[in-house]
Amino acid sequence: LGNVPSRLKPTSTTTSICGYCATGCQLKIHRDQGGNAINLTPQSKYPVNLGMACPKGWQALDVLHSEDRATTPLLRNANGDLCEISWEIALSEFTQRLKSIQRKHGNESVAFLSTGQISFEEMAFLGCLFKFGMGFIHGDANTRQCMATAVTAYKQSFGFDAPPGCYADFEESDVIVLIGSNLCIAHPILWQRVMRNKRNPDIIVIDPRSTETAQAATKHIQLKPKGDLALLHALAHCILRDERIDKDSISATEGINEYREFVRAYAPEKVSAKTGLENEQIESLARLVSEPGKRVSWWWTMGVNQSYEGVRTAQAIINLCLITGNIGKPGTGPNSITGQCNAMGSRLFSNTTSLVGGHDFQNPEHRRKVAHGLGIPEDSITAQASMAYDEILAAAEEGKIKGLWIVATNPFHSWIDSGRLARLREKLDFLVVQDMYRTTESAQVADLILPAAAWGEKDGCFINSERRIGTIKAVHQAPGMALSDFRIFRLIAHAWGCGDLFSKWTDPESAFHLLRDLTKDRPCDITGIRSYQQIDDAGGIQWPYPKDSLEQEQERRLFADRKYYTSSGKAKLLFSSPAENPEPIDADYPFQLLTGRGTSSQWHTQTRTAKSAILKKLYPTEAYVEIHPKDAARLGIEDLQQITITSRRGSIVAQAYIAPTVQSGQLFIPMHYPQVNTLTHSSFDPYSRQPNYKLCAVTIRI
Ligand code: SF4
Repeated sequence: LGNVPSRLKPTSTTTSICGYCATGCQLKIHRDQGGNAINLTPQSKYPVNLGMACPKGWQALDVLHSEDRATTPLLRNANGDLCEISWEIALSEFTQRLKSIQRKHGNESVAFLSTGQISFEEMAFLGCLFKFGMGFIHGDANTRQCMATAVTAYKQSFGFDAPPGCYADFEESDVIVLIGSNLCIAHPILWQRVMRNKRNPDIIVIDPRSTETAQAATKHIQLKPKGDLALLHALAHCILRDERIDKDSISATEGINEYREFVRAYAPEKVSAKTGLENEQIESLARLVSEPGKRVSWWWTMGVNQSYEGVRTAQAIINLCLITGNIGKPGTGPNSITGQCNAMGSRLFSNTTSLVGGHDFQNPEHRRKVAHGLGIPEDSITAQASMAYDEILAAAEEGKIKGLWIVATNPFHSWIDSGRLARLREKLDFLVVQDMYRTTESAQVADLILPAAAWGEKDGCFINSERRIGTIKAVHQAPGMALSDFRIFRLIAHAWGCGDLFSKWTDPESAFHLLRDLTKDRPCDITGIRSYQQIDDAGGIQWPYPKDSLEQEQERRLFADRKYYTSSGKAKLLFSSPAENPEPIDADYPFQLLTGRGTSSQWHTQTRTAKSAILKKLYPTEAYVEIHPKDAARLGIEDLQQITITSRRGSIVAQAYIAPTVQSGQLFIPMHYPQVNTLTHSSFDPYSRQPNYKLCAVTIRI
């Protein structure tokens, strides 16, 4: 044993949910005598990942040791340099500068932008501190970029943001439809759950790109970009025309007559121009997803969500499930899979556009209940919900937002049409970035950087895409003066002078108890959870979990009883006609640019994953663009040649990957590279305000 490396000789282990994606795998962290993390393995007993992890999970500890960690607060001086300062000065600067803006310009002049990457106790603390303690109105999270569409679609259709399914449905379906989802690389462990399905399922991928998942599916419906809504209406047309419906399920809905009338206009031949599909492709898919006795599950991600008509597209999926009875039963459901590890926590607890704990700002009863639960004056909660992310940035561009506090996110890379961010930076009087790294695109332009502890250096809870709450643990010492976001918010509360309001928020678990009690009698009621330990012992707990009883079954699927959360108790069939593409191609910009995740080994803007030598080896470090062989031949482009992709907003130089993964006339660039969002077009879904990342017009310069 003398020659065995110390990382292979742990003296203890603990568990923690992975801090990247919303799959929510549990990792077993191996620790040395001092309690420090020295290695990890995926947890075999956890019901989500069953002993599996993707490359990011395996490398989760590696990225904590990067040299560019923010280890002290940094303040920009008169020469424009960032200088190390103490926490005392940082807190004083933070409060003085933001209070001064508030005095001069009012409560709507400062906003925060946060994330789905911190624990829900931390996001709730930020939202409550900023609004109820500091008195500001506007703050939103980068979850706006990934799942706002699904949230709005579920809320409007079901009366509450309630994703109905669970991951076991991947293993219990006869037909699995993946729409706008490259599951193999975006959620690789969920793809492994598909592979465990013993029912010999049909696996249908609806996607304009021939993705890794499309290539592994039993059928790829390769439609035109944003032909999805017309296709879904055409499927409903065929199903209702042929009466391949579930009458009991339909009896629990509202609007069937109007819906039937609406989809009459969407015969397969009428949508061929929009979808690029043959009639028989649509007819046979309609038969497959309405086969009596077959369990059909639908799963969608960003291909649907990040669109100018995402909500109605998600609702067209929901409608198909409702009319065919594919909801509330094993192997069924209109299921959205989210991106970030705690996106679901953000949906319930971020206190941004919705009031914390699954409540509404506009409902006086909800405001009273939350104020009472938090022990704060009722009038500290106003009826005014926050502006959405894009509206906050637009207000900053107009000079109405003067101070911005960015927490654990990197909008100067990730926000759509990111060149706008650089321009609005000029308009801001004060920009604070709170992050684990001092080198992100956003931190580099900050006035003040607050050094934050990372995943692995703090405690709390995440909620994954199947509504499962799991705990994260501190298994590593944060470097230098970096502090957990929770502790930073505590310090700010005291420095601001509102610490008394948050005297019960002493540590993450105390905050959890406060937040848990707020959910009482809401659809997301988790008042049956007593402690973090109980969550660990149970292998995570799915909401709702309202009873304090060890015998209580976790509610794996919602709506088995066909009772929805609307005032009538019925689900709503909501629909509208496909909208025009906000930026169609033309002679000057003749290519359609698609963007998305490019690999399972990188994450979003690569702030963490680029710090792992192993992950970097698994993925090209230089930007690349997929181009169809016909287009490459026509333009004389050779494989691996550097070409410039230009939109009306910006340019990126990328290496040409010539492959028929994209259709002729289309290009694909992964979102992980800087500059990619200088190309994208600033348009949004009108209901969810989610950005339309997936489609814009570009040209190629050689
Ligand atoms: Fe982490 Fe997601 Fe990979 Fe699981 S699939 S290990 S949660 S990044």
